[in-house]
Amino acid sequence: MRAVVFEGFGQEARVRDLPDPTPPAGGVVVRVEATGLCRSDWHGWMGHDPDIVLPHVPGHELAGVVEETGPGVHNWRPGDRVTVPFVCACGRCSACAAGAQQVCERQTQPGFTHWGSFAQYVALEHADVNLVALPEGLSYATAAGLGCRFATAFRAVVGQGRVAPGEWVAVHGCGGVGLSAVMIAVACGARVVAVDVSQRALELARAFGASVCVDASAHPAGADGAVRELTGGGAALSLDALGSPVTCAASVRSLRRQGRHVQVGLLPSAAGDPVVPMARVIALELEILGSHGMAAHDYPPMMDMVLVGTLRPDLLVTSTIALDAAPAALAAMGTAPGAGVTIIEPSGKT
Ligand SMILES: [Zn+2]
Ligand SMILES: [Zn+2]
Repeated sequence: MRAVVFEGFGQEARVRDLPDPTPPAGGVVVRVEATGLCRSDWHGWMGHDPDIVLPHVPGHELAGVVEETGPGVHNWRPGDRVTVPFVCACGRCSACAAGAQQVCERQTQPGFTHWGSFAQYVALEHADVNLVALPEGLSYATAAGLGCRFATAFRAVVGQGRVAPGEWVAVHGCGGVGLSAVMIAVACGARVVAVDVSQRALELARAFGASVCVDASAHPAGADGAVRELTGGGAALSLDALGSPVTCAASVRSLRRQGRHVQVGLLPSAAGDPVVPMARVIALELEILGSHGMAAHDYPPMMDMVLVGTLRPDLLVTSTIALDAAPAALAAMGTAPGAGVTIIEPSGKT
C-alpha cells in the first residue's frame, strides 16, 4: 500500500510503499477512502505522544470500506461502509462495561498506538465494539471528521457540557473541533461567542451561527474579559478547543457562576501542565471537565442530526487533497493550519 510515513519526530514525512496490514483477531482492515488531517496528527509527528513507535504512519479520522475481517468478527462484512471513533475500545474492561468506551482502559488509537489512516489501508481492533455503519448519502469525506473532531465536539457540548437552549457558550479556538462545537451549540439553541486569532476562522464561525466573534489577537493574555463583557457576566459553558495554557485559563475565566469548562484541545504533558485559576473555580463553583472522543454506541443521536441536516459537518470540509500532498500539509499544521477541515483521499488518483 501507499502510505505517509515518518522515521523521526519532526523530520520530513514521505509517501512510500509499505506492506498491507492484516486484520487482527476480532478486527478488520479498512480501505481508507477519506481521512482528516488533525492537529493531533501534528502533535504525534512532533513527538508529543509517548505511544508512538518509529517508523510511523499517522492518521486517526477515517471513513472507508471494510476490505477484510479477522477471525471472530460477527457484525461486519467486506464491502461495508464504515467509520470509527479515534478511541478504539476493548469492549471488556470496567470502563467499557459502564458504557464509557471513550476512556477504555485498554484502548487502541490508529495513528498513535499503531499505524494509522494516512494510507490506503488501516487495521482496526475490536470491530464489533467500534465500527459505525455509514448511512446511505453520507459521504466518506464528511464521515471522516465524525470520528475525532466532530464527535469530540458533540460530546463536549451535549454530553459533558450539558448545553441548554438560550445559554451563552464560549468557544476558544475555531479550528476543526472549535467550528464543530460552534455548529453543534447553535443547533442546540445556545448563543455562541467564538474566539480565534484568525479572521478566516471567525468568518466561518459566524457563518455557522456564532452570535459574536472575538479577535483573540487583540487580547494576547486571553480573551476572557471580552467574553465576560459580551455575555453580560460570563458564559455558562466554555470550551478550550485549541489546547494551550492561555486558552485553557481564558476559558475557565470566561465562565459565569457555576459555569462548566470543557477541555477539548490537547495539552501535551511535555509542555508542562497549564496553570488553571483554581481560586476562581472554588469561588464561582465552576466545573472542570474533559472530553475524549465519543463511544460508537453514542453516535446515533449525532448521526440523526446529521441525516436531517440540523448538523452539517460537510460544510466544515474546506479542502480535499491527495496522499502526495499530505506530508507538507502535516508539517503546516503547526504554524499555518488553515481554516476548516482538510481531508486526504488516500485511495483516490494521485
Ligand atoms: Zn483528530
Ligand atoms: Zn475497554
